Amino acid sequence: MHQSALVLFSGGQDSTTCLALALARYPRVETLGFDYGQRHSVELSARTVVLEKLRHAFPAWGAKLGEDHLLDLAVLGKVSETSLTRDTAFKMEASGLPNTFVPGRNLLFLTLAAALAYRRGMDVIVTGVCETDFSGYPDCRDDTMKAMQIALSLGMDKRFLIETPLMWIDKAATWQMAHDLGEATGPQGGQTLVDLIVEHTHTCYLGDREHRHVWGYGCGTCPACDLRAKGWAGYTAA
Ligand code: ZN
Repeated sequence: MHQSALVLFSGGQDSTTCLALALARYPRVETLGFDYGQRHSVELSARTVVLEKLRHAFPAWGAKLGEDHLLDLAVLGKVSETSLTRDTAFKMEASGLPNTFVPGRNLLFLTLAAALAYRRGMDVIVTGVCETDFSGYPDCRDDTMKAMQIALSLGMDKRFLIETPLMWIDKAATWQMAHDLGEATGPQGGQTLVDLIVEHTHTCYLGDREHRHVWGYGCGTCPACDLRAKGWAGYTAA
């Protein structure tokens, strides 16, 4: 029934896994990313590399992979900065959220994604939000996604499906999902996709691409690295 999907794609482990899922499921897939500041440039370059490597390693997926959209959201950086009147250095809050966290960021992302999907004639929006790992982010919760699906469908008078394949699984299961999606394309496909994600996706909050771990690059200590490392440990132990 659904023929095309727009994937919110940041160049991280989660959104790359979501992209693989969309490519396995839909005949036509496009990607959307947001540019909202300097710290983000590592992720932005990871996006381009991941797309290129995916096309190369999985030609059948490459044939379905259409346009990559990048929207300038510098305004988000401004909201983030002005909320930090006392200290602009990056740090983690007691809540477990980085102080650069912008409340409701995903609401904005989804609204823009739906507007773009509308214009491109696409009705599925895939996003890697996850309630299991990031329960601290209220704009990633399942109820929020369902409310957004209704609000956007009503507000644009078009039936949107917001697909959240990672909502109820942990990071170990996300690695496993990537493996299974890759494996379904052919022999060694699972290992190929997992290797690609390890090497080329970026998750670290600090943008660290110097330190290479078995699970990929990152500072190794920020909450994003911590989750990725623990997920990898769980995946490889299974
Ligand atoms: Zn890190």
